[in-house]
Amino acid sequence: MKQLLAIIALILSFTTLEAKIHNERTELHHLVHTIRDPQTDPKHFRRCLKKIGEYLALETLQTFTRKEVEVRTLTKASATHYLCDEKPVLVTIMRAGLPLLLGVQEVFPNSEVGFLGTMRDEETLKPSTTYIALPTIKNKTVILVDTMLATGGSILDAVKIIEERGPAQIIVICAIAAKDGIARVLSHNSNITIYAAATDPILNEKGYIVPGLGDAGDRSYGEKH
Ligand code: URA
Repeated sequence: MKQLLAIIALILSFTTLEAKIHNERTELHHLVHTIRDPQTDPKHFRRCLKKIGEYLALETLQTFTRKEVEVRTLTKASATHYLCDEKPVLVTIMRAGLPLLLGVQEVFPNSEVGFLGTMRDEETLKPSTTYIALPTIKNKTVILVDTMLATGGSILDAVKIIEERGPAQIIVICAIAAKDGIARVLSHNSNITIYAAATDPILNEKGYIVPGLGDAGDRSYGEKH
């Protein structure tokens, strides 16, 4: 009986997992192909991440409530349009989330932005968040932006910090997400929607996504010493 329940839970988790990923666009395939290439220099790497952030943020825009707005044109006639009626709060995890955030800000230029400083212990792979600078997020939609969803540790840390502050909903935007990380985040909170440009199958012993792209922070800003 226990085994049967475990199998059903596993099947359900895969169904949910598929439903939460948004990576159909051909442009995203071009961009992810470029950032995976080790020959891509930091300037081009960051530019591609920014573009990925923008495309994924445009996908989230489709899900927000809209208001009817009229505009009177130079012809003295009016046209009706349906504009986004929400202003999500953006939160990013430093430092790898920064280039992706710049793209998300292109879509939500008036959003407030929160920053989390999270370090991952290279031995235990456990994250610790030592810097928290967040605007008010109670009852607001929060878009959490981080480039790599690997083990899910850093994002889960961030999700818990955000949850304590009572958001209306949490959306995660990342460039590449590992299946294990997605499952970990969704098993903590199945109401989270994850937008990823690509999903990768495995993590290596250092918790890096495979095939992935290496260390997104190093690729964007240079190696830490
Ligand atoms: N962080 C990265 O930058 N890359 C990975 O593959 C995993 C975590």
